Amino acid sequence: STFAEIDLGQILNENIRRCKYLKPTPVQRHAIPISLAGRDLMACAQTGSGKTAAFCFPIIAGIMRNSPPGRPRGGRKAFPLALILSPTRELSSQVIHDEAKKFSFQTGIRVVVAYGGAPIQNQLRDLERGVEILVATPGRLVDLLERGRISLSSIRYLALDEADRMLDMGFEPQIRKIVEQMDMPPAGRRQTMLFSATFPREIQRLASDFLGNYIFLAV
Ligand code: AMP
Repeated sequence: STFAEIDLGQILNENIRRCKYLKPTPVQRHAIPISLAGRDLMACAQTGSGKTAAFCFPIIAGIMRNSPPGRPRGGRKAFPLALILSPTRELSSQVIHDEAKKFSFQTGIRVVVAYGGAPIQNQLRDLERGVEILVATPGRLVDLLERGRISLSSIRYLALDEADRMLDMGFEPQIRKIVEQMDMPPAGRRQTMLFSATFPREIQRLASDFLGNYIFLAV
């Protein structure tokens, strides 16, 4: 099968071709159609499986289909449409942010990354220019929420990457605090994707708390 057979939209398909992703990896082949159909998803995926594109492509395609960026919105408080949570600075910035930016080329979608252990000022400035997809580590995102610089009331897509690692690092309270804010009105229907390499009881509990009627994918 090829990416062209999946209904990802013209711009994203061109970006995929430009990046020379010729055919979907197994996790992509199964996860992308499930997410495009609007279903919540819990997927078993290791590093190197192509999981990053598996959650980035449906987010980009969904934004282009349902709320394509129009006039740039900016301001003191950011209202992202999609949130990707990941455990570390390296994964957030060097893997997910890079991948999401590459594939958002010419869509008008702005991708911003926010992680701890670095000065917050540049991240605040990036957020002020407007953001559709926010890639963040849990601790720094809680900081930004407490400063009143981000609202999660517009989030339509939530992806949790390496969820087991985030719990191992002790991020469960922060993750719960973050997701609670999304459940406040006026947030409507949110689509959630949870990626993890292992499925201990705590991950299953997160899934039953955060996902609705989800599909479990193990490839
Ligand atoms: P990930 O597991 O998401 O970290 O991806 C592992 C590596 O595979 C990254 O360097 C990706 O850019 C690359 N990759 C992901 N999907 C594809 C694909 N369908 N075709 C070729 N390379 C890919």
